[in-house]
Amino acid sequence: MAANEADEEATVSLVDVLEEDEELEQEASAVLGGSDSEKCSYPEGYVKRQALYACNTCTPKGGEPAGICLACSYKCHEGHELFELYTKRNFRCDCGNDKFGEMECKLFPEKEKANSGNKYSHNFFGLYCTCDRPYPDPEDELPDEMIQCIICEDWFHGRHLGCVVPESVELQEMICESCMNKSPFLWTYAAHVAVPPVLKVCKAEEEGKVEVEHDEDETKPEKEVSESTEDNKQQVEVNGTAGCKRKLQELEDTSAEGSCSGCRLGEMKASGQSRAQQGAVFWPSAWRTKLCSCTHCKNLFVDAGVAFLLDETDTVLAYENKGKTTEQAGGVEGRDPLMSALNNLNRVQQLEIIHEYNDMKTELKDYLQTFAAEGKVVTPEDIRHFFEQQQTRKRRRANAGQYYCS
Ligand SMILES: [Zn+2]
Ligand SMILES: [Zn+2]
Ligand SMILES: [Zn+2]
Ligand SMILES: [Zn+2]
Ligand SMILES: [Zn+2]
Ligand SMILES: [Zn+2]
Repeated sequence: MAANEADEEATVSLVDVLEEDEELEQEASAVLGGSDSEKCSYPEGYVKRQALYACNTCTPKGGEPAGICLACSYKCHEGHELFELYTKRNFRCDCGNDKFGEMECKLFPEKEKANSGNKYSHNFFGLYCTCDRPYPDPEDELPDEMIQCIICEDWFHGRHLGCVVPESVELQEMICESCMNKSPFLWTYAAHVAVPPVLKVCKAEEEGKVEVEHDEDETKPEKEVSESTEDNKQQVEVNGTAGCKRKLQELEDTSAEGSCSGCRLGEMKASGQSRAQQGAVFWPSAWRTKLCSCTHCKNLFVDAGVAFLLDETDTVLAYENKGKTTEQAGGVEGRDPLMSALNNLNRVQQLEIIHEYNDMKTELKDYLQTFAAEGKVVTPEDIRHFFEQQQTRKRRRANAGQYYCS
């Protein structure tokens, strides 16, 4: 509007920026999956998936682990040392319950003493992976990405997964080796629907040179199919369906399904295709839709405590989409000063900004007001300047922190 035609590419009007501010808000809520930043999530019970934090100030290592919701991280634990746990499923906010001693939740103090359905791990003390290290790790100089297992929800160093991490890993779901072995029937799916394992040609060979082994090779020796004795009973019975004999006692579902044609897992087993049962497994998008949900298989998932795998809306992707109310229309970078500024920051900075989003939004609006008052247009440069100021101020605050230590 204010911008004249010639400047249109380089500058944007205040109205544009305020609209894009809305987009930033949507992006932030996508990351936080619609988690409420005002209300404690406790009254909602065990939330299917939510952004979660642990407080090292209130519940440090040596005591009992506890997790708190997004709103409590802002309102009840401001200035505390928080571990960002990203998202976890089926969790109920612990803020102010028995694990916190005298400390009271400001948002929802009427909590039960404990949440018996919550699952905890070393993540709640800021430790991750099979190596049980903090992240970021001051003693670890090797750059390595952390990848979350979709079953145990722990985070693992790429180099500690027991396999070569495939490219475009962010588009895939990962199940760690330990979780694979707890639900051994997943190895059958791994041979059919997972991303084929990438094998290093030779350890002596230079790093980075890898060979992709396509596991579709039907001529592979079948001995891997006869699985170890650790396999559970049901799985052996599924094996029995290979010859289309209706042996499965559990297959109570006597409906229209043909003798064994109904069970995809049985079909996969019968095909004899297999893969080495070691290392983490990466799964392509929409792989969950390929899981068999016949009565027998549902029981397998339920008994192994992984029934959520049959639920497409359990994915982090579905959770992130839930937070977005609308798709970013024509989101071309460069025409989108707030988003491109945000994209230029590293992940830690992005998370900090999102965490402090409400404060920042107010400051950003104030900053933009000065442009409105002077009738000036806002350029992407101005927005970058704003973010830089924010960072400088934060550093100062961090340096001054010791004076305010309570
Ligand atoms: Zn809470
Ligand atoms: Zn705290
Ligand atoms: Zn609270
Ligand atoms: Zn590790
Ligand atoms: Zn796992
Ligand atoms: Zn089945």
